Amino acid sequence: MVMEIADFHCDVLSKLLKDRELNFQGNKPGILDVTLDRLKEGGVVLQTFAVFISPNRHDYHGIDPILESIDLLYEKVLCHPELKLIRTASDLDTCLQEGKIGALLSLEGVGGLRGRLSMLRLLKRLGVRAAGLTWNDANWAADGVMESRGGGLTEQGAALVQECNRLGIIVDVSHLSERAFWDVAALSARPIVASHSNVRELCDHPRNLTELQLRAIMESGGLIGITYVPQFLRASGDAKIDDVLRHVEHICALGGEKHLALGSDFDGIDRHVQGLAHPGQVAALHEALLKRYSAEQAGGIMSGNAISFLRGQLPAD
Ligand SMILES: [Zn+2]
Repeated sequence: MVMEIADFHCDVLSKLLKDRELNFQGNKPGILDVTLDRLKEGGVVLQTFAVFISPNRHDYHGIDPILESIDLLYEKVLCHPELKLIRTASDLDTCLQEGKIGALLSLEGVGGLRGRLSMLRLLKRLGVRAAGLTWNDANWAADGVMESRGGGLTEQGAALVQECNRLGIIVDVSHLSERAFWDVAALSARPIVASHSNVRELCDHPRNLTELQLRAIMESGGLIGITYVPQFLRASGDAKIDDVLRHVEHICALGGEKHLALGSDFDGIDRHVQGLAHPGQVAALHEALLKRYSAEQAGGIMSGNAISFLRGQLPAD
């Protein structure tokens, strides 16, 4: 059976930004999880590349490192003819027809935009098609999940969500505080996505979502990207593929089968699920799903749900 993988979150661009010697083809084994060879090995048809800027950087609050990360996507990733940037629904179809790996560009935090919607519009022209408002900390738009005051969307953040809706940039709620999550859910005219979060009832981590939040995403017509972050899968001990399945099963039990996707967080994590350390190993998850679900259901989770969602949400041309 042909396996196709669509992944809604990885942080390889942040590693390329930190170490300019790194090569996306993977010439330094053990440093990058996501490389060209592993994407091909895994049968990845769609990979989201997040722009994540480390709070430790001196220029964290500016636009520069965001632009540098996008330049690296073009120079080091999209320079390979096997990959194609997905700007429109027809780009996605072309990729699938031609057997290319579709690259979706996303932001993991809009802090560097400093409230300027003009920057959001320019970033859309550079290819950004999804935006998480925050990382774990707070910024001008909203509070992230680790900000202790737990604030919601600011006025400027609300304007950003509306502009994302207008431009067709998918709003990603994964790192938001609970209050900001509900503000976005109430405000967004389009479906919302949690690109890399799991089920709070199964693993009580603030980055995971409660059943109420999961239901709100489903009701919006959005997606939940199950993530392979060990700390979000189980409270202690080594995480295994069975732990990923527990979270999948829980969301299916809530009626979320058509809203499930994958959000690996590869290159954003320092520990891995056993046997799930890079895109080349995700076939093992597919095999595990096939033991419990039909080929159609498993295929939906691996890629089908994400692809039909993007067909509906990306600009038509
Ligand atoms: Zn993240």
